[in-house]
Amino acid sequence: MDVPSWVVNLLYLSASICFIVGLKLLSSVRTAKLGNQVGAAGMLLAICGALLYKDMNYTWIIVAIVLGSGIGVTLAVLVKMTAMPQMVGLLNGFGGAASALVASGELIEVIRHGVERLPLGWGISTVLGILIGWVTFTGSMIAYAKLQGLMPGRPIVLPGFKVINGVLGAVLLVLGVLVVVNATGWWWFAALSLIAMVLGVLLVIPIGGADMPVVISLLNSYSGMAACATGFVLANNGLIITGALVGASGIILTQIMCKAMNRSLMNVMFAAVGAQEGAAAAARADGQALVKSGGPEEAALLFEGARSVIIVPGYGMAVSQAQHVVAELTETLRKKGVDVKFAIHPVAGRMPGHMNILLAEANISYDLLLDMDAVNPLFPEADVALVVGANDITNPAARTRRDSPLYGMPILEVDKARSIIFCKRGLGAGFAGVENELFTNPKTMMLFGDAKETLKKLVAELKAH
Ligand code: NAP
Repeated sequence: MDVPSWVVNLLYLSASICFIVGLKLLSSVRTAKLGNQVGAAGMLLAICGALLYKDMNYTWIIVAIVLGSGIGVTLAVLVKMTAMPQMVGLLNGFGGAASALVASGELIEVIRHGVERLPLGWGISTVLGILIGWVTFTGSMIAYAKLQGLMPGRPIVLPGFKVINGVLGAVLLVLGVLVVVNATGWWWFAALSLIAMVLGVLLVIPIGGADMPVVISLLNSYSGMAACATGFVLANNGLIITGALVGASGIILTQIMCKAMNRSLMNVMFAAVGAQEGAAAAARADGQALVKSGGPEEAALLFEGARSVIIVPGYGMAVSQAQHVVAELTETLRKKGVDVKFAIHPVAGRMPGHMNILLAEANISYDLLLDMDAVNPLFPEADVALVVGANDITNPAARTRRDSPLYGMPILEVDKARSIIFCKRGLGAGFAGVENELFTNPKTMMLFGDAKETLKKLVAELKAH
């Protein structure tokens, strides 16, 4: 199709504006849905631009669109909300692989035409597209496997892994230079791709469960950087801008997550803390003799005497889909004149904003939701802290145990409330695999059972009085 380049560029410009406006709208819960739609409209414009960009074989593209859309729709319908982080990890990986494959395809084409030395800018972009793309792909596959439980979530630390990674990084640098100055050498290209894949694996396996949110958003940023580099390879303005936006927003989110967890990026990437904690926790969890548990009736008695309650939702609330009964509990308590607030930890659940989405779905007013910094000073005044399927985000080991993977992460200070009720199925650890000493705190009452079922009984008890 012979379309003037200004039409294509206008489409890319409009798409970029949609992406920027979409990102802005995504920053608030109230406007996030619209932001998503504006972003999707931008993507449609970008795809139109790409299809008009130059003459191509549309038959194959239609086949790919039908296949890809079919797989996408099926996954979107089938994948549970709680498995969304894995899904995001997988998509980041595919983005990285796509960039690496496109950059490799362009490089192979150039090598086949006998070019010996690549133009410097083009060569660097190609090498970066391949390198970052493959690191993103294999790193994301490991993150996916860890989150899906296909491999252990705890850090896997090879002896001298920092040195190995450093050496691989240096080798990649040399190979990158060789690809640019001696394009005819197929070996350099093959070795660059292979070692980048190995580095992706080695960078992610030493990272433990609690730090996974940071890794996912970092890999998301990498996928954007790879796309941006490939945009330069193809001289495609749309891809350059989109990749840069994904790369930049991913790195901003990574910074926010690091801050929330009181980690530096270097600490997440290279510390590999708590490698033994999972096993140690399992061993220590054996003798939980001091745990005090009660049923919905006892819990209802505690609530009857309370004037202020802080609810701490976590991953278990998502698993059990207990948000609606939590909303009913909130209403019941408020009708009895109890002041109810929600404490939202930045990494509660399995993705950023997970709790906000669920509570919004249950029509719980945004005004009741308080961020960690705002809610922590209120715990000493709270009569009851009700923890619904949360664990790591309340674990005092983050303050006290230097060898814990959670060490240094700011927590919700439920231990400062006058009494604590933990609503969960058993004494199981959270995502980081760390025992929670709060279960044996004299102020704690364990309310065992599936969150939705247990809270239903609690609400019935409260309504009966
Ligand atoms: P958590 O530490 O994973 O604890 C969740 C608890 O929910 C478990 O201990 C489990 O205990 C309980 N549970 C599971 N199913 C339940 C059910 N049906 N009913 C009641 N309870 C149930 O969750 P969290 O406190 O929300 O902390 C989040 C963790 O995930 C952090 O370590 C964070 O770093 C990590 N993470 C976060 C993100 C993110 O972006 N937010 C992404 C990836 C990882 P039982 O088995 O005893 O019931």
